[in-house]
This record gives sequence, C-alpha cells and structure tokens, in this order.
Amino acid sequence: MPSSDCVFCKIVAGEIPCRKIFENESLIAFDDITPMAPVHFLVVSKEHIATLDDAEPRHTELLGRMLATLARLAREKGVATEGYRQVINCGKAAGQVVPHLHMHALGGRPMRLMG
Ligand code: 5GP
Ligand code: ZN
Repeated sequence: MPSSDCVFCKIVAGEIPCRKIFENESLIAFDDITPMAPVHFLVVSKEHIATLDDAEPRHTELLGRMLATLARLAREKGVATEGYRQVINCGKAAGQVVPHLHMHALGGRPMRLMG
C-alpha cells in the first residue's frame, strides 16, 4: 500500500518531481537531491516497504533486481571501473531518514569506511 505521507511513494506516483534515470514495473532510480558524492543516485522499490528489515521472502527477486539495476546504472554513469559504494540504511540508528526501501549508489570520489 502506498503511504500518503511518504516522499518516495509520491515520487513513484509522479506527485513529486525527480531526476529520473531509469524506471520499470518494480523500481525507479533517480539522482539524490542532496548528493554526497559526484555520482549519487537511489534505486527505490515501487512497493512501499519501510526498511530492509520489512522485506519478506516474496521480495527476494525485487531485491536482486534493485541491486543488479544499481550495478548497471553505475556502469552507465562511468563509476564502475574506479569503484563505487552501495548503501542501504536500515532503521533509525543507521541514519535512515526516508522509511521506504532504497539503495544508494555513491561514486566519483574515494570513500572511507564511514563516509
Ligand atoms: P536515507 O538516509 O533514508 O537512507 O536516505 C534518504 C535519501 O533520500 C537522502 O540521501 C536524501 O537526500 C534523499 N531524498 C530525500 N528526499 C528526496 C527527494 O524529494 N528527492 C530526491 N531525489 N532525493 C530525496
Ligand atoms: Zn513509500
């Protein structure tokens, strides 16, 4: 069920604009509004799943498609050769601020362990 006060549900529904990179029936990818690296985009499930901890066995294929899409888009953005980072923040202590499942891709600068 889409959540009416969820920013990513609104992006999925086209109610909030985004710089879209890719979309298919199960996911959407767009640039992060506050980039933490020269390349910083998000891969977001279309289904409202609050956190990775809320993913169920039926979401296994979706999770794989999200990760494989992230890898393909990172190649297309030219950061795969040098290397890039994938991040899924799960819950408050991890710093998750948007409670709708998403993966970050960060590249174009060297990364340290925590940032
Ligand atoms: P989290 O901390 O939940 O893993 O990351 C949420 C990310 O979503 C943040 O990096 C934040 O900049 C990004 N974000 C929040 N609201 C919007 C928005 O309206 N549009 C876009 N493109 N990114 C957003
Ligand atoms: Zn949502």
